[in-house]
Amino acid sequence: MEEPFRVVVTGENLAPEAMEILLAKCRVVFTGPYPEPSLLARRVQEERAQALIIRTGKAPAEVIKASPELKVVAKHGVGFDNIDVTAATRLGIPVMISATANFESVAEHTLGLMLSLAKDIPRIDSRMHQGFWDKTQYRGVELFRKTLGLIGFGRIGRRVSQLVAPLQMKILISDPYIPGESIPPEVQRVSQLEPLLKEVDIVSLHCPLTEETRNLIGKKELKMMKKSAWLINTARGGIVDEEALIEALRAGEIAGAAIDTFRQEPPEDLRRLCEAGKVVLTPHIAASTDAAFTRMGVEAARNTLTVLDGKPPDKNSMANPEIVKDR
Ligand code: NAD
Repeated sequence: MEEPFRVVVTGENLAPEAMEILLAKCRVVFTGPYPEPSLLARRVQEERAQALIIRTGKAPAEVIKASPELKVVAKHGVGFDNIDVTAATRLGIPVMISATANFESVAEHTLGLMLSLAKDIPRIDSRMHQGFWDKTQYRGVELFRKTLGLIGFGRIGRRVSQLVAPLQMKILISDPYIPGESIPPEVQRVSQLEPLLKEVDIVSLHCPLTEETRNLIGKKELKMMKKSAWLINTARGGIVDEEALIEALRAGEIAGAAIDTFRQEPPEDLRRLCEAGKVVLTPHIAASTDAAFTRMGVEAARNTLTVLDGKPPDKNSMANPEIVKDR
């Protein structure tokens, strides 16, 4: 029997369907959740890992360089800002993402947060659990025909626009990178962020965290938003300047925020954010459904084996497609 491939996974498990795919050809070692980069690098080196699956935690250059035999880094998910893609590209190592695994779950979660803000469900539910009956004080908001601003119109942003279709919302998008012909007629693209921020009732973030999008929503941008508007962030914490958000909520410059992703996870001091105004918070779980978990594991396992088997990786699932030479 051939020697199995050596795979290191950051996390404590993968879906059984993903394990079945991997165990047919690989020896799989789990590091436990959120391993320290230096400890992860040591583990990758000791195992002489040929593949690294990043489920939680970070893979900086020291991790990617730790095993000279490393052939692939596979993200269990989509966002790859926790992986040093430049270091991998220099070494000719493909960084694969589970491109289509979780957009449905994240889009549905975004809709859930939007409804939570509009209907105030988390607060009113918590009050009822404490024995209160706040019927006469309650006033919710209808989403019908409101204006929604989507920053990033990829898989998740696009799906959010489909999910809200029955609400007949006006949808403005900001995404400079998608071709015009891919934009559906019911959606309007703006070339600058400013008019979108000024007009919409809800701003929802669906772009990746990059050097360009870091702190994209800061003091100036929050000031541009309507006082009645809400901000939803299921993308990445670093896209929003959290200090500026706390200030904007305190000063009543925006009406509320719903956040799934934070600059630091778990956040060090949540209290200030909780007390700043109307906020609905979830602990980076937008993609944590059974269906998405299975798909993320299966896609990560398949991407890993494709590369280990010496087959060409799918460019649409690569963070660094430029390393693939077109024949
Ligand atoms: P995607 O690649 O399909 O779409 C991202 C879109 O953002 C692209 O269309 C791109 O052109 C656009 N974009 C890039 N830079 C931009 C900018 N400066 N301004 C506006 N748009 C810009 O990715 P996706 O599957 O839709 O995921 C989007 C992001 O959501 C991911 O990068 C990830 O960080 C985040 N995410 C979060 C969770 C979660 O659990 N909360 C799960 C999955 C993904």
